[in-house]
Amino acid sequence: MSQAPQPRESVAGPALALAFDVGGTSVRGAVVGAGDVALAESRVATRTGPPVLDDIAQLGEELLAGLSTMARAQVAGVGVAFPGLVDTRTGTSLKAVNLRLVDTPVAAPLAERLGLPVAVSHDTAAAAGAIWADAGSPASALVAVLGTGVAAVTYVEGRPIVGASGQAGELGHLVVDPGGPLCTCGLRGCVETRAGARGMLERYATLGGDPAITGVAELVARTDHDPLAAQVWSEAITALADGFLAVGALLAPGVIILGGGVAEAGGHLLEPLRDRMSERAGVTAVPPVRLSSLGARAGLLGAARLALASTGTGA
Ligand SMILES: [Zn+2]
Repeated sequence: MSQAPQPRESVAGPALALAFDVGGTSVRGAVVGAGDVALAESRVATRTGPPVLDDIAQLGEELLAGLSTMARAQVAGVGVAFPGLVDTRTGTSLKAVNLRLVDTPVAAPLAERLGLPVAVSHDTAAAAGAIWADAGSPASALVAVLGTGVAAVTYVEGRPIVGASGQAGELGHLVVDPGGPLCTCGLRGCVETRAGARGMLERYATLGGDPAITGVAELVARTDHDPLAAQVWSEAITALADGFLAVGALLAPGVIILGGGVAEAGGHLLEPLRDRMSERAGVTAVPPVRLSSLGARAGLLGAARLALASTGTGA
């Protein structure tokens, strides 16, 4: 854990945020300052059920304890990017299937433990918001967050489409391969069964791939000499292409921006995806596809922005 730099301009200094991104495999926490710079950062493995809330609080206590007294005084609030259905007004997890939580308060117990105001957002909204802002807030864009699962937010006329239910953007659960692998949502052949990190690794194992491979980066690194890895990656590209083209047919976004851990595959993702979309587009216009520089940090930085915005100290 790094020591916070001493602010030069004033005793109070700029506001800092304590941010958390609660993912399928790990809970990431960080103290984030101006320019998205993390003063301290840590993570723990994700546990399911109520213990995950204890883990978040403990991670927060450790991060705060590692700061100088001055930096600690600059922490204005806490932002949490949380999976599943979230009531942002009350800071409650309504349903998080992967964490096995239903109607569980998140903000209140964390505020009590950490002694700071806590704002909770859906993880995709937080990550997509950070990616979109980092990309210069284009008026018309599809921002996809590619991680354990797949989700997206579409921006039209500079605003995110949330839909009547508030749940627009479940790109990961668009069926692109009817009869394909069973998804966590109960359907078969959803985009994320092919293009989510979990789905890719399960598919690779099912095909008889090397059991030592436990991450998508390793899988991608093998695509030039391991036919099974190449097959899984190609299927993922096809699923993403079809998902993006479906959104394109309805909303014609001006640009597609890719973030999240799987987007760290870089050119291995971007070039075949552009080609696959062009091959399968039919009459649908294929917009430019770009990579966000935020990668797997998008959720954490989105949570930091949320914390500062909700305490009135954000930019
Ligand atoms: Zn699904």
